[in-house]
Amino acid sequence: MNELIAVTKRIKLPGFAAKQIADWLYKKEIQSIEEMTNLSKKTRELLSADYEIGIRAPVSVSESSDGTKKYLFQVLENKYIETAYIPDKEHATICVSSQAGCKMGCIFCMTGKQGFQGNLTTNEILNQFRSLPEFKELTNMVYMGMGEPLDNITEVLKSLDIITSEWGYGWSPTRITVSTVGLKAGIKEFLEKSRCHLAVSLHSPFDEERGTLMPIQRTNSVEEILSIIRDYDINSQRRISFEYILFKGMNDTPRHIKELARILNRIKCRINIIRFHPIPGSQFESPDLKTTIKFKEALIAKGILTTIRTSRGVDIQAACGLLSTLEQNK
Ligand code: SF4
Repeated sequence: MNELIAVTKRIKLPGFAAKQIADWLYKKEIQSIEEMTNLSKKTRELLSADYEIGIRAPVSVSESSDGTKKYLFQVLENKYIETAYIPDKEHATICVSSQAGCKMGCIFCMTGKQGFQGNLTTNEILNQFRSLPEFKELTNMVYMGMGEPLDNITEVLKSLDIITSEWGYGWSPTRITVSTVGLKAGIKEFLEKSRCHLAVSLHSPFDEERGTLMPIQRTNSVEEILSIIRDYDINSQRRISFEYILFKGMNDTPRHIKELARILNRIKCRINIIRFHPIPGSQFESPDLKTTIKFKEALIAKGILTTIRTSRGVDIQAACGLLSTLEQNK
């Protein structure tokens, strides 16, 4: 809104014009500035000289037999990002990307293998939401696509502001989850400036083992992240969850269960177990469903609310980063 006010001041419009423009953009969902019919023709011409609405359709879509769809959007001259649409019984979730590629280099991740190609702008993040053909059906949003959202925190926070503000799309923050590899400074800023849910990728409670999976552990340890979360007054509306990809024979043992229960002591949270989606050249495997369920039940027995995320879109390159890598290599 501050940026819209600055625009209206620059072209000498009255103060209320910023709100009118926001209404056209986020409530009436127009395709062109020309459609802002309560602004004068001259004003529309002035706006059109410097700005555009910024709507760009996806360049392709892959559809899974389970209804999940993966869209590719083109950004940053010939780079591609992935956006997933995941319908469920009562929910329809969009999973957005926040960067093209990623710097974090998690060894189990195809996006990490692409390396970093650039931060997405607020427009490029929001366009995935607004230009999704299923936009009207969406009930939830997760920032769990390509990239590390808190490594692009300024644009991510702006996009959250637009989605959750009354003058914007008016969504409740409790419909949105931002996932992070665990950047200390980013977590602090996010907890202070947003009211959306936070998901932290844990994947192992042991420093050394987590460090082999996620290089970020060397500078942003689990203990440091947990202490930030413990010290923060999390209100009852807000959810903190820990993502845990199960790797067969590695992080699925009773030792891990015991240590998870110890380190998460006193944190009101849930663990979300994720089944590993294989990527080319990876030595990791997912344990069978029986082991996964046993792991979940053991955590519940320790008093930790635990869920298993259903694998979706396995027939359309479910692992994040696979589709865009294929497109880039064409
Ligand atoms: S898992 Fe997330 S943070 Fe890690 S490399 Fe992949 S996209 Fe980046």
